[in-house]
Amino acid sequence: MKPEPVTVTVPLGARSYPILIGSKLIDRAGALIAPYLRRPRVHIVTDANVAPIYLGRLQAALTAAGIASAATVVAAGEASKSFASLETLLDALLDARVERKTTLIALGGGVIGDLAGFAAAVVLRGIDFIQIPTTLLAQVDSAVGGKTGIDTRHGKNLVGAFHQPRLVLSDTDTLDTLPLREVRAGYAEIAKYGLIDRPAFWDWLEAHGREVIGEGVDTATRDRARTYAIAESCRAKAAIVGEDETESGARALLNLGHTFGHAFESLAGFGDAVRHGEAVAIGMVIAFALSERAELCPAGRTERIVRHLKAVGLPASPRDIPHEYTVDALWTAMLGDKKVSDGRIGFVLAKEIGGAFTTADVDPAEVRATLADALETAR
Ligand code: ADP
Ligand code: ZN
Repeated sequence: MKPEPVTVTVPLGARSYPILIGSKLIDRAGALIAPYLRRPRVHIVTDANVAPIYLGRLQAALTAAGIASAATVVAAGEASKSFASLETLLDALLDARVERKTTLIALGGGVIGDLAGFAAAVVLRGIDFIQIPTTLLAQVDSAVGGKTGIDTRHGKNLVGAFHQPRLVLSDTDTLDTLPLREVRAGYAEIAKYGLIDRPAFWDWLEAHGREVIGEGVDTATRDRARTYAIAESCRAKAAIVGEDETESGARALLNLGHTFGHAFESLAGFGDAVRHGEAVAIGMVIAFALSERAELCPAGRTERIVRHLKAVGLPASPRDIPHEYTVDALWTAMLGDKKVSDGRIGFVLAKEIGGAFTTADVDPAEVRATLADALETAR
């Protein structure tokens, strides 16, 4: 049986592209990808964890469709989003004689998508690229929307380019080998779309979130729930990116939970203490707590969000992170965020679940009080 993948289109005029979501897509990648290639020749970039599991299968599928492929394997982990790794990768691509009509394929999580996407944006002044995201986070967020880039000593994602893929292939089976903690971290970004502007999706997540995580359900139920949740997340992100590709307006809504989340991540040193998605989960709770405190949002919403995040096994409070935070340290980290302009922090707050909005008009005292409550310390 070959169920058709679900298709979601990112609407960007002549640069519009489909996201295909479903089971067994890697094994069918040759036929699925062929229509998007200028030449039957690709260069795959992947990491050392993903390569042993999926690279051989992908290359076999491509070969079967008459597509020639070469591959470069980089080290797994955020450290690969560096100038040094970019240089090594660009040299490898040029050594392999990529041409203007070669398509680069990013096979892996967000790190690979960001690094390989940026390499595709700059090598030979830009070649086509295709994303095959293998983490839940990448399937619902980073592989969609065309942001690519690397980290520098000044911070994360400070050098990069907008470079949209020609196609995104999300094979839900790749999540079977992903550690549960990574699945949960990706789920936080799924929940985010419900909280931003999809209240009905949020209700669905409250009923089916545990099926997406894959706990206590048969694999057919799990796969159906994952496909729906990924597709709905891609629809949500595609709608926002279609409206505002380069983040001059609506795209900032996607930062819900991130202004706070980045502060938790950066103070903890971006290590194992807190994954990006976990920090976002906690950040979303604080964004709603601040909205309630400022009487922008009815009471009880934060509690409802906390209940759901806990039900799927995500942290909902900074006290769940093995790091000692203070209000001052968090506030200073927030002021240092790259999204601060003219010394004003851009907040994403909410008037309802599914009713997020952006504002820079927030009283710092209310933010500090909300953080103090979350840390359960004196202000
Ligand atoms: P993210 O997608 O969360 O931004 P990474 O690209 O760093 O982050 O991926 C997280 C980790 O999971 C990395 O160590 C990566 O090698 C590994 N990984 C990615 N996809 C899979 C998969 N399908 N199965 C197992 N491990 C994977
Ligand atoms: Zn995020």
